[in-house]
Amino acid sequence: MKYEPTLPGPVFAAHYHLPGEPTGPYTYGRDENPTWSRLELAIGELEAPGRDDVETLAFASGMAAISALLFSRLRSGDTVVLPDDGYQALSLLREQLQVYGVEVRTAPTGGDAQLDALDGARLLWIESPSNPGLDVCDIRRLVEAAHARGALVAVDNTLATPLGQRPLELGADFSVASGTKQLTGHGDILLGYVTGRVRRGDDRRTSVAEDRRGDPRPDGGLAGAPFARHAPAPGRPAGRHRPGRRRSAAGPAGGDRAAPSRAARRPLHEVAARQMRRFGCVVSFTLPTRARAERFLEALRLVDDATSFGGVRSTAERRGRWGGDAVPEGFIRLSVGAEDPEDLVADVLRALEESAP
Ligand SMILES: *Cc1c(COP(=O)(O)O)cnc(C)c1O
Repeated sequence: MKYEPTLPGPVFAAHYHLPGEPTGPYTYGRDENPTWSRLELAIGELEAPGRDDVETLAFASGMAAISALLFSRLRSGDTVVLPDDGYQALSLLREQLQVYGVEVRTAPTGGDAQLDALDGARLLWIESPSNPGLDVCDIRRLVEAAHARGALVAVDNTLATPLGQRPLELGADFSVASGTKQLTGHGDILLGYVTGRVRRGDDRRTSVAEDRRGDPRPDGGLAGAPFARHAPAPGRPAGRHRPGRRRSAAGPAGGDRAAPSRAARRPLHEVAARQMRRFGCVVSFTLPTRARAERFLEALRLVDDATSFGGVRSTAERRGRWGGDAVPEGFIRLSVGAEDPEDLVADVLRALEESAP
C-alpha cells in the first residue's frame, strides 16, 4: 500500500483496543498478533504458493511446533509412526507420548522402512532429509500408503526448507519445521511453524487451526515473542542459498549428492532429486576416529565449531559429542554458509590434510 512501510515494524501489544463484543482478528496478545500474521502468511506462501486452502501457525521453536502438532492430533489409544533416525529431541517426545497412552512405532527413514509400520496408525511422521544422517525417503509413496490406511502425514521440512522441498505438494497433510535454522539464517532466533490444509471434510484433526479450540498454540502459550516473529520477515536476506553454496557443498564431500558420506547412496540421491529442488546447506561425513574429527574441527579457520546449521557463517561439529544420535564417533555435520566457495573448499581440504595422522 502506498505510504505504508515496505517492512512494517514489530507490534508488541499484549492487548488491543476492544470495545463491545470481543471478536475480530486481534483481541489478546497470546492469541494473535499482526506481526505473527504477516510471518505466517509469508511462510505459507513459501510452503504452498498460490493456495488459499492452507494455513500456517508460528511457534516459539521447532520443538514447540512439533509438540503442538503431535499432542493436538493424537489421542490415547492412537498409534504414531516416527523415524528412528530423526532429530534427537524427538525421542524425548516419544516417552511423553507413551505416558499419554499413544503407541509409538519407529522405523528408519532410508528404504521407506516406515511403510511396514503403518497398519492401524493415526499419524505418520517423516523427516526427510533426516538430521543428522541425511537419509531420505520417497515422501509421495509414503503419503499414498498412509492415506490409504486413513493416517495423516506430517513432514519435518527443517533440513530442506520450503525453498528445497514442499511437502504439501507431495501430498503431506502438514509441513512442520524449525525456523531456527536456515529459514532465519542468522542463528539469532528460535522459531517453529506448522503449515497444513484448512478443514478437509468434517475431520477436525486434519486441520491446523479450524477453530480456536483446535488451535494448539494460543491456549498453550506456545507462540513466543512478537520480535521473534518480526526479525525473520522477508526482506531480511540471510539464509538464502547463494549459487555458490551448492558448489562449495559439493567440493570437499564428493559431487552433487545430497548425502555423500556413504558409497551406496545413489538410489537415495535419485529419490532426493525427484522430490527436492535444492539439497540444502548441510553435508555430513565420517572421519576414521573421534581424535581425527576433533583435530579436523580445530584446524578449520573459516568454519566455527558450533552446533545447529543454516546460518550465513559455516559451522561444523562432531555430532557424537551430544549422545542421542546413532552416529559413529568421527561423524561430522557441516553447515555451509555464505562464504566464498573457493575459500571454504580450500579451508576444509587444508584442515583434512593437517588433521591426518
Ligand atoms: C533443530 C531441529 C528441530 C527443533 O527445532 P528448535 O527450533 O531447535 O526447537 C526439529 N527438527 C529438526 C530436523 C531440527 O534440525
